[in-house]
Amino acid sequence: MSAGNRYTGLINRYRDYLPISDDTRIISLGEGNTPLIRLKNIPKLIGKDVDIYVKYEGLNPTGSFKDRGMTMAVTKAVEEGSKAIICASTGNTSAAAAAYAARAGIKAFVLIPEGKIAMGKLAQAMMYGAITLQIRGNFDDGMELVKQVASQAPVTIVNSVNPYRLQGQKTAAFEIVEELGRAPDYHCLPVGNAGNITAHWIGYCEYSTPAGHKPTDSCSFCNGHCRFTGGPMNGSRPKMIGYQAAGSAPFMRGEAVKNPETVATAIRIGNPQSWKQALKVQEESGGWFDELSDQEILDMQRQLAMYEGIFCEPASAASIGGAIRDIKNGRIPEGSTIVCTLTGNGLKDPDTAIAQCNNTAVLKTIDATLDQVRDSILQSMGL
Ligand SMILES: *Cc1c(COP(=O)(O)O)cnc(C)c1O
Repeated sequence: MSAGNRYTGLINRYRDYLPISDDTRIISLGEGNTPLIRLKNIPKLIGKDVDIYVKYEGLNPTGSFKDRGMTMAVTKAVEEGSKAIICASTGNTSAAAAAYAARAGIKAFVLIPEGKIAMGKLAQAMMYGAITLQIRGNFDDGMELVKQVASQAPVTIVNSVNPYRLQGQKTAAFEIVEELGRAPDYHCLPVGNAGNITAHWIGYCEYSTPAGHKPTDSCSFCNGHCRFTGGPMNGSRPKMIGYQAAGSAPFMRGEAVKNPETVATAIRIGNPQSWKQALKVQEESGGWFDELSDQEILDMQRQLAMYEGIFCEPASAASIGGAIRDIKNGRIPEGSTIVCTLTGNGLKDPDTAIAQCNNTAVLKTIDATLDQVRDSILQSMGL
C-alpha cells in the first residue's frame, strides 16, 4: 500500500493475488473495501437464530460491484495498448466501464437495451462520456453484437467474458474472509450472467488453500490469469446460493430464456455468459439456485431499507430475499453465518423505488400550514 495507510483500491491491496506486474499502471477509483454490515432487526423479525451480513457493494465508486472487475479489466486493457473498450450492459457495467475509461483517458462504447435500464445508470454512462448505443433489443442481443463487432473494430470487450473482470471481483470474497476471520457458511448472490458468483468462488477457493497447493478444479476458471501462490486461510468455503428473478431464470428452466422480463433490470438476462462455471460452482460448493418473483424482490428491497436503513437496487434484494425465505423454510439451518451480496445502490433506480412508495403512508401532500404539519406528525405517531 502506498502513502501510509491510505486505501488506494483493490489492485494495490491484493496485488499478490492479481495478474499485474510491479510497473503496471493501475487505473483505480478507490473501489473495494466495502462495508460488511450485520443485520440487527430482520433476524429478530423472522425469529431465527442466524447471523446475516450484507456486503454493501453499492458503496463502490460508481455504485455497484462492477467497479471491482472494471479496475482490473481497464488496467489490463491499457497495459495491452487498447484505446477503446466496449460492453453490453443492463446498466451497471456501462456505468463502470464509462467511469474507468474516463479515468484512463480511453474511449468507452456501451450497448444498452432501450428503455430497460434504470435512470441513474443511463445518467452515469452519458455523464462519464461513454458513447451510449441504445439498442432495440435486450442484453443478450447486445452481448452477441459486442462479441461480433470486436473482430471488426479495435475495441476490448470488458464484459465478464473478459477474464480480468472475475479476477477483480474475486477480491470481495477476500475482504469477507478477512473480516469474519473465516468464510461464511452460506454466500447468497443475485445471478444474471453468473460472473460474480463464479468470481466469489474463485476468491474463496484461493483464500482457503495453503501455500504450495492449487485451490481446486475451480482454479481453471482463471485460465492462469492469477498469480496464485497460496492463501492466508487454510479452511472452509461457503455453500454458494444464486437467486434469479422468476421472469429471467434460465438456471431454473434449464435452458436460455428468450424474452427475459423482470423489474430487477440488472439481472434481466436470458442467456448467462458464465453458465457452465456457475453450475460447477454449485456442484463444488454444495449450493443451489432458486428464483424469486418480482413482488418478493421489491418487498425485500423495501424491508431492508425500512428495517435496516440499507438501500439497494431491486436486483440486489434477490440475494437477501432468497436467503430469508430459505432461512424460514429451514434449507439454511439456524446457527448459520450467511453473507448476502448487495450488488448495487438503491439510488441507481429511483423510479422503481418511488413507484413502490407512492400511495403508501410514507408520502403525503399537505398545505404549507402548521396545523397540517402537526396533525400529520401526531397522526403518524398514533397520538
Ligand atoms: C451485474 C449485476 C448483477 C448480476 O451479476 P452477474 O455477475 O451478471 O451474475 C446483479 N446485480 C446488480 C446490481 C448488477 O449490476
